[in-house]
Amino acid sequence: WFDQARFIPADAIFALTAQYQANPFPQKVNLGQGTYRDADGKPWVLPSVRQAREALLEQGLQHEYLPILGLKQFRDQTAELVLGSELYKEQENKIATCQSLSGTGALHLAGLLLKAVHTELPKVYIPEPTWSNHYQVFQSLGFKCEPFKYYDPETKSLDIDSYYSMLRTAEPNSVVILHACAHNPTGFDPTKEQWREIAQIMKARQLFPLFDSAYLGFNSGNLDEDAFAIRLFMGEFNMEAGVCVSFAKNMGLYGERVGCFLVATNDEQVTVRTQSMLEMLQRSEVSNPPGFGAKIASEVLGNDALRKQWYQDMVTMSDRIRSMRETLYKGLISFGAPGSWDHLIQQSGMFGFLGLSSDVVVKLRGLLIVAPRSIVDNKADSDIARRETSYLHGGQFSYLY
Ligand code: PMP
Repeated sequence: WFDQARFIPADAIFALTAQYQANPFPQKVNLGQGTYRDADGKPWVLPSVRQAREALLEQGLQHEYLPILGLKQFRDQTAELVLGSELYKEQENKIATCQSLSGTGALHLAGLLLKAVHTELPKVYIPEPTWSNHYQVFQSLGFKCEPFKYYDPETKSLDIDSYYSMLRTAEPNSVVILHACAHNPTGFDPTKEQWREIAQIMKARQLFPLFDSAYLGFNSGNLDEDAFAIRLFMGEFNMEAGVCVSFAKNMGLYGERVGCFLVATNDEQVTVRTQSMLEMLQRSEVSNPPGFGAKIASEVLGNDALRKQWYQDMVTMSDRIRSMRETLYKGLISFGAPGSWDHLIQQSGMFGFLGLSSDVVVKLRGLLIVAPRSIVDNKADSDIARRETSYLHGGQFSYLY
């Protein structure tokens, strides 16, 4: 049955993590995976999450199935969080929601839904560079994905002109993946004015905005500020849109797989039907989404004191990342590293995009984590090194020198 199975090389980021774990060097640093670390280089359980967990245990935590669409309270809280209470009140009945297996699951549900409602699959435009899984998620469902230039390696910043011109020439009725904030991996987002222009062109050309919202709260520590683009498209521009929400990063619930897919349609009846389709799609995919993480998130969102603590926790994380960014920047300057490093402090969010060539990254990796020569010389490895360039992760900057 399986003779035709092809060998698929391991995912570059996870392969790099495995190499990192196998390396015995005590001061090694994992620049691959986007997971926040505290000042001791350790994973951080957010105080708000810790307290929510304790409260759940006290309440007598059960392990029954959740409904197919997930925890209703969590879905409603998520929609209100993302839209803000005012817009949520206005649009509540036009929004279908489905709890998902974190942000990845939300993207996959979005793909399943788009596929289920269109006989001819829309094209999916994806910024270059991006989170590599965007391609896998949509291509595995049969979508044709087209990259568009998002970042200019020369200026080391957002290439907004290429962005606009792609939108102006994109096939109408296509999907555009938009990183809601804290673009992975470049750390460059459009300004508010640029977002407005993007929304205008997309609306005029009937392009569907699919927001990947994995880092709300990571740019500024202020979730309302970070949700600006989503609210602009759905509110001021009154556009149909999808939002793939992840609580992996902003609640530190990585492994619990807590997410939600929201879709805003332009008609309440369409929303009722869309909601029913999501339920059908979820049933054949996972039957019932996982309960534990969603209950934690719901406890945090539903309890005033915990929610306040969570906002503080997001400030703690984003402040630390910002200070790591500045420390690295100042370190490079005082070390006399050639060239400009301004881009490092212009970026925001979880990632520091160094803009170094693969060769330099491989060399640095050899120096920093004493990678065995065989790894550095391995041709396949330069692919990994290329990705590694992207992910100089904020919480770990301090180890660099
Ligand atoms: N989108 C982007 C841009 C990401 O960086 C990530 C995580 N690295 C995700 C989605 C999905 O993350 P998760 O499935 O863990 O929520």
